[in-house]
Amino acid sequence: MQDKTLKIWHPFWQHGNNQEIINIKETKDEFLITNDNRKIIDGISSWWVNTLGHNNPYIMQNVKKQADIMQQIIFAGFCHKPAIEVTDKLSKFLPDNLSYIFFSDSGSICVEVGLKMAVGYYYNKFNKNKSKIVAMEHSYHGDTFGGMSSGAPSVFNLPYKNMLFDVLRIPYPKDGEEQKTIECYHKLLKNSSNEIGAIVIEPLVLGSGGMLFYKPCVIDELYRLSKEYDVMFVLDEVMTGFGRTGTMFAFEQTNIKPDIICLSKGLTGGTLPLAATVCTDEIYEAYYSNDKSKMFFHSSSYTANPVCLMAASANLDLWENKAPLNDVKRINSFYKTKLNEFKNARILGDIFAFEADNSDNNYVSDIANKAYNYFLKNDVLLRPLGNTIYVMPPYCISEESLNKIFTVLGKFSNS
Ligand SMILES: *Cc1c(COP(=O)(O)O)cnc(C)c1O
Repeated sequence: MQDKTLKIWHPFWQHGNNQEIINIKETKDEFLITNDNRKIIDGISSWWVNTLGHNNPYIMQNVKKQADIMQQIIFAGFCHKPAIEVTDKLSKFLPDNLSYIFFSDSGSICVEVGLKMAVGYYYNKFNKNKSKIVAMEHSYHGDTFGGMSSGAPSVFNLPYKNMLFDVLRIPYPKDGEEQKTIECYHKLLKNSSNEIGAIVIEPLVLGSGGMLFYKPCVIDELYRLSKEYDVMFVLDEVMTGFGRTGTMFAFEQTNIKPDIICLSKGLTGGTLPLAATVCTDEIYEAYYSNDKSKMFFHSSSYTANPVCLMAASANLDLWENKAPLNDVKRINSFYKTKLNEFKNARILGDIFAFEADNSDNNYVSDIANKAYNYFLKNDVLLRPLGNTIYVMPPYCISEESLNKIFTVLGKFSNS
């Protein structure tokens, strides 16, 4: 046998740039603590998952207790307390038309589950092939094939272009051009609503697309048209869920009742992997039959992991009276005092974003690397999206850490 050692291949990381991989030994609140005791401020909530802060004591106590009682068990035909608790606790935060929750384990998968539910609904109920999906320009719905297909064509998925299914696109409704988006959708529906099964959107903010914000009234209009033409409305709240936009869920800023809502990142407070797709009675009913061929054919092996669900259950306790929103408000007020210091800066809830001075606006542009390295040298973790620099910290972040982030941001912008 040859001597060999495996090496780690990191995600969304160009190893050829010879940037240092940093080892973290422990975390606390907004800090990642390195092996040599550097305290790095996690300015992007560890890729948008961590909402309440690292090592949340209440969530972790519950996780530890559950870990002693039961780990993964089969979920087809079986159930457990953590799953029931999460179902009960989540109920009161979601629109009353949503009645069934389906568990999975990542954001990409819960969106794919939503799309499969919608398309399967028309197939099971009407024997119709309504398998076309509508999605928004610049959107992101994950890195699996369904996620890549529904997301915007970009450098992320170029090599796989020919393998992706066709998606109908509506333009990003930038300020003042909302009507274009709505008219484009209306036209698609008029021409081919008998083929369109679902529209999937990221509400209020396109995250990976560059923290692009848009108005809630667009969502209301897209929803109204979807109902008029019998198309399922799928809301991807994987990033926006659990407070990011200033309300617990982004849909609260609209007047819609989505047919399907997809949740993941903040569902466990960012502690353990879990996702959920929640749908209407109507969709569930299309699969309800004594005919086995009509059941919903989807599962991942680790579906509804009891330990992950216990983390979600504890997280939902902490959301009981939406207390975390007070911190989001506090952070948002802080942002307001900084708006004038950065050109084109925009804020929404826990998100502060602006474009660095650079015409080269693409994900692989050099400015992102330069900025990333500069911030890190100053013990702040920010990962620009192309030349869009943004801050999205855990809600527990202190005033001192916020000040530090913005001092470093200011120095970079003026350098
Ligand atoms: C992160 C994200 C996903 C994908 O979630 P993963 O857990 O990374 O698979 C899907 N949709 C949106 C809006 C996201 O931000």
